[in-house]
Amino acid sequence: MADQFRVGDALVTRILELRWTDTDPAILYPDLDSAALRDHGSLLSPGSYNPATGRLEQGTHSWLVRHAGLTILIDTATGNGKSLPAAPKLHNLQTPYLQHLKDAGVAPEQVDLVLISHVHADHVGWNTHLHDGAWVPTFRNARHIYSAIEARYAASCDGQTPAPDLPPAALGPPDHKPLARVYRDSMLPVLEAGLGQAITVDGSEVAEGLSFHPTPGHSIDHASIRLRSRGEEAWFMGDVMHHPLQVYRPDLRSVYCEFIVPAERSRRWMLEQAAASGSLCFSSHFAETAAGYVRRRDGGFAWQFASPIAGTNR
Ligand SMILES: [Zn+2]
Repeated sequence: MADQFRVGDALVTRILELRWTDTDPAILYPDLDSAALRDHGSLLSPGSYNPATGRLEQGTHSWLVRHAGLTILIDTATGNGKSLPAAPKLHNLQTPYLQHLKDAGVAPEQVDLVLISHVHADHVGWNTHLHDGAWVPTFRNARHIYSAIEARYAASCDGQTPAPDLPPAALGPPDHKPLARVYRDSMLPVLEAGLGQAITVDGSEVAEGLSFHPTPGHSIDHASIRLRSRGEEAWFMGDVMHHPLQVYRPDLRSVYCEFIVPAERSRRWMLEQAAASGSLCFSSHFAETAAGYVRRRDGGFAWQFASPIAGTNR
């Protein structure tokens, strides 16, 4: 059974896609220094960092949210059969993701809303699946909500119209480009089917208790998604962080961050929000339960994994 959490009246279930145990921290974090794991390795739990191998554990998944009568998916992981040769771990996957969704009691056509934190390969992949050689929407009754800027930038990176949104001056020039084919294979079929809703990321509610908040940097208009229900609050952090090590060392940018200075600013903003509010935080790539709390510690922050109300704790 998949891990489940409660946030007010909402039930949040992790839909697992992939787990791996062999992330080389020096590749994930190009600016890693020897002090990072020496000083903080012992604070990371064995399910996230293996001191014997020196490797980090990570994964990909979606969060299924049932709230106010709606069935909502937050990000859609990588998908099956997506051609991503530049990201070998994600290239041409065949995983039982849809079976995991079914095991959680949801058929693809029952999904009402898909909320997209950012338009990267491992967050929009299951938007589409291959049918008779063409990419078609997987969640054919769902409204897919995403940043208009993210979609236009992804289109431009794929050589598609509409015209690009150039990075705003505040972000500076990109340090890294997103993977190719993501818009064409995973966004365009959804938009062509009339299932897309482009939004401005400004904190407005897109559904009861759910709102997109700007945390740019990892990608051009990356959003963190807030859920409020019956006085409780949670954050779906997208790729503000890729591993709990960054809670202790928010200065470490991932190799996938496109605008590294604003990415760090957004990470610190998220950590402040989470520590001040005590909100439950849902990550996109942490291992273990992938959900937890940010606590204040010695002028910085610490991470504490949350226990699910049900599930296998895997
Ligand atoms: Zn990601």
